[in-house]
Amino acid sequence: MAHKINDSCIMCGACEPECPVQAISAGDDSYVIDATKCVDCVGFNDEPACVAVCPSDSIEKA
Ligand code: SF4
Ligand code: SF4
Repeated sequence: MAHKINDSCIMCGACEPECPVQAISAGDDSYVIDATKCVDCVGFNDEPACVAVCPSDSIEKA
């Protein structure tokens, strides 16, 4: 479970405020998702909010 951000992240920051459980933060070369916090948006959104806003399709189901 949990989602993961890959190397194609352009660090636009759009995903961070969309996460209902504050699992996303800026890393050194990409934004990162804390796998211990990500709940795949279950109970919050029909689709993962971070995936929906990412302009570079950088977020995948881990
Ligand atoms: S899938 Fe949902 S809970 Fe997980 S990081 Fe993305 S926005 Fe946050
Ligand atoms: S929305 Fe996508 S490109 Fe933008 S910071 Fe998040 S993962 Fe990176």
